[in-house]
Amino acid sequence: MSGCIFCQVAAGEIPATIVKRGDGLIAFRDINPQAPTHVLVIPAQHVPSLNDAKDAQLLGRMLVFARDLARETGVAERGYRVVFNTNPDGGQTVFHLHLHLLGGRAMQWPPG
Ligand code: AMP
Ligand code: ZN
Repeated sequence: MSGCIFCQVAAGEIPATIVKRGDGLIAFRDINPQAPTHVLVIPAQHVPSLNDAKDAQLLGRMLVFARDLARETGVAERGYRVVFNTNPDGGQTVFHLHLHLLGGRAMQWPPG
């Protein structure tokens, strides 16, 4: 979708540190990391938010992708957090579906 920054990342039109790609998904480093490991997983195709995601298989693939990435980045054993911020109260600021993979430090609960 034109004007969507994550579509532009997916198309290689703006720079990003791509960590992994495949299965219609792209993982890249968050530009403003909130943990030593902070990677975003997006579908190549534009979906605005979790509320709009009709494809259960896509959501499953995103979780498996993040789980594998946690292993590959070395945070799986100590632990990590997977987050889908959704709409304004959920803290979503970029309206292209994305999953945050956060690890490398102990997370707090409840989140702010
Ligand atoms: P959210 O608040 O859940 O919508 O998360 C959006 C995330 O995208 C934030 O953590 C931003 O730091 C991150 N972000 C925004 N623009 C970029 C970009 N060009 N490259 C990498 N991460 C980005
Ligand atoms: Zn998009």
